[in-house]
Amino acid sequence: MSLKARAREKVERAGISNYTFDHDVLVMCGVRYTLAACNCGEPDCDGVRLERNAAMGSRVLQ
Ligand SMILES: [Zn+2]
Repeated sequence: MSLKARAREKVERAGISNYTFDHDVLVMCGVRYTLAACNCGEPDCDGVRLERNAAMGSRVLQ
């Protein structure tokens, strides 16, 4: 399964339907999250991490 598909499952499981994808970047509530593979090994890990794109956030604030 692709990271994008995993991320989609993750946010939908969290009950979030107001999201979109800009190529491989997840956009929720105007915040962009970079998708990264997660290898933490936790039993409930879904294999994807969402990394908040700080650079984008600060640009919005300016
Ligand atoms: Zn993990």
